[in-house]
Amino acid sequence: MLLIDCLLCFLLQMGLLSLGTPLDWEKSREHNEHVRLHGISQLINMFRQHGLRRNDSFLWGDEIEYMIVDFDDTNKTAKLAINYDHVISDLNDEEKSLHKSVENNVSFHPEYGRYMIEGTPLKPYNGNLLEDYAYVETNMATRRLLGNNELPPNMHLVTLTSFARLGCPEFTSPESKPVGPALQSLFLPDEIINRHVRFPTLTANIRKRRGRKVAINLPLYPDVNTKLVDDLIPLDRKLYPSDKEAALGAAKPGHVYLDSMGFGMGSSCLQVTMQAADVNEARYLYDALAPFTPVLLAVSAAAPIFRGHLVNQDIRWNVVSGAVDDRTFLEKKEEPYHGYSETGGLDLEEKVPSTLEIDESGNYVGVNTADGKNVQYVPKSRYDSIDAYLGDSGYETGYFKKSYNDLFVPINDGIYDRLLKSGHFDNELARHFAHLFIRDPLVIFSERLDSNDDLDNDHFENIQSTNWQTLRFKPPALYPAGTDLSSKPGWRVEFRPLEIQLTDFENAAFSNVIALLSKAIIAFRPDFYIPITKIEQNMTTAHRVDAATNEKFWFKCFGNWRTTDLKKYSLQWLSDYIDGTLKPESNGVLHLAENGFSNVTEAALYSADAIVNGDSGHGGMIHLIIKLLATDLIPNFEGSREDLIAYLTRIKFQLQLVSRRASGAIPTTAHWLREKVLSSPLYHQDSRVSQELNYFLTTGALKVSELSDKVLLAELVGEDIADYLCR
Ligand code: ADP
Ligand code: MG
Ligand code: MG
Ligand code: MG
Repeated sequence: MLLIDCLLCFLLQMGLLSLGTPLDWEKSREHNEHVRLHGISQLINMFRQHGLRRNDSFLWGDEIEYMIVDFDDTNKTAKLAINYDHVISDLNDEEKSLHKSVENNVSFHPEYGRYMIEGTPLKPYNGNLLEDYAYVETNMATRRLLGNNELPPNMHLVTLTSFARLGCPEFTSPESKPVGPALQSLFLPDEIINRHVRFPTLTANIRKRRGRKVAINLPLYPDVNTKLVDDLIPLDRKLYPSDKEAALGAAKPGHVYLDSMGFGMGSSCLQVTMQAADVNEARYLYDALAPFTPVLLAVSAAAPIFRGHLVNQDIRWNVVSGAVDDRTFLEKKEEPYHGYSETGGLDLEEKVPSTLEIDESGNYVGVNTADGKNVQYVPKSRYDSIDAYLGDSGYETGYFKKSYNDLFVPINDGIYDRLLKSGHFDNELARHFAHLFIRDPLVIFSERLDSNDDLDNDHFENIQSTNWQTLRFKPPALYPAGTDLSSKPGWRVEFRPLEIQLTDFENAAFSNVIALLSKAIIAFRPDFYIPITKIEQNMTTAHRVDAATNEKFWFKCFGNWRTTDLKKYSLQWLSDYIDGTLKPESNGVLHLAENGFSNVTEAALYSADAIVNGDSGHGGMIHLIIKLLATDLIPNFEGSREDLIAYLTRIKFQLQLVSRRASGAIPTTAHWLREKVLSSPLYHQDSRVSQELNYFLTTGALKVSELSDKVLLAELVGEDIADYLCR
């Protein structure tokens, strides 16, 4: 999942994944400081080259991760296909199918799983054009079609966030055994990992740095016949020394135990990247999107089943977080397993003293690695929610207050000082990167150690793209002097928490919501700041079963959004406009803090419904988006009335989908999948999803995604949307 991101594109540019020799952890760790040092030089150069850049267009794009599933209708099995990874190479091969990708404006990228493909638009969408929002779904449908065209008839691309039987007996096609040295998993074979040597190295290096296998325990969904002890864990295996960890406390009773990276990076998600006009706008956008990350994650929930068990949560987030968690026991402040080192694979200067003191940057005083880096207390995995706002001090809003960054965030002191001294970073920005750079590089290619820091960005990207947070602040790359920078990608913000949905329609809906919300944020400049610890609490809430409808989330109090007349711009307004009973507004004018701003409590608990759809007195996220349509995208549309109505109708249905998922009028994907299991005659009230039940479930998911079963589709998206999609 989401892995490697920028690096993968980079690998592709280099000629599909042929980058040289990745170093094993013991060798790689000798170069950690080198990578950080040069990575920061590269970052400073990026700010030097692009810091003053202004007025970039609002471009954006999505990323969708697919799984290749092999359906056997005779034996009633659905398995992950692990020998069709040449499909990505073919779709990028000039002599094979690349022309099809290019002609159709799509691009395919490899992912962590050998059964996975990532698809994006080749050129980003123009966010100033209404027609491009309507085009998103078409682009997604083309990707699915081109991918499917490369596969035999029994195989299909499926957009499930987690494959229900990943890690169960006989879940791959062809069959493979969980005996590989990279994962050392009791459940997952190494054959599920991308063949390029980078991926098994990454997997092994996380385990080696951490000093033990990763361990994730998801609470079982309790049903009448559910067994608390999992007899599918081969506790007596003696293939690797790490096999004993399950019995040493890694596996918890009453939980589904997952022991390797593939469980997280082998799941799929939906990401959306927006380009801002300049660095300051990007910072404000990043901050304003932050409170939406847990709320929309909950609304997009799509992962109630892991390793063949229903779990008592609805999303993948904590699975991926645990799956790439490279922290040692000491960094996590945890007791080591009996016989294990608390400092894992770190190469320490001297022994850890018996009493430990932690300074305000998170450093264990006097505990250093051999190359002189402080060992730290690190509260969160490198895959986790964001830890701090970037601040909007350089922007006209100026809403940010230091008190909003109220979470403890360890930083790399030396890097913080260096960034401040460079003159290109204020406190918040310096802290942001100094926090990302507490991490070690996970894979270093020996051939690429030497860098030209005026032109290369791989050392920066090495650390940046292995900090997998809910949002990513993406600076522009470095270019030779004299390059026309306005034609190159600028300052971007990536929204990363969303789960993948079954249909292109739903994925387009969520993508459009994020892009339109971002554009509305830039246009109307609402104030969404709340203390970041409240967003942390919301991340925990977002994991709960049916969180979208049953839970409350901290959000900026209605009345303090600094928005005006939102309430008017409802879905009803959009329907009326489409029906011809309303006129468009004149171009939107900015009004900061015009009225309705009160100094009552800043944050309060709201349902996802209220945040998305507003309440009786105040508009919500949907109103902000429709106001943008009404005052900007509709008045600026230059095509025919007929086209306008067709585009708006599609967008209206998409907004309706997200609106109704938040209100509970239609189920989330997770709710729908769970209900499908619970109501199946193949289910035995034991929380387990058998091979046959998985076939039934995955076949249903495929029928929905291919819009071939209207009854099933209507359960998930509602009757009127199903009618529209199957018309
Ligand atoms: P990563 O995996 O690093 O997040 P990808 O290249 O896979 O990056 O996806 C990035 C997304 O950003 C794609 O949808 C792409 O179309 C989009 N994109 C590309 N250039 C720009 C740009 N200048 N502004 C905004 N989005 C862009
Ligand atoms: Mg990806
Ligand atoms: Mg991405
Ligand atoms: Mg990507």
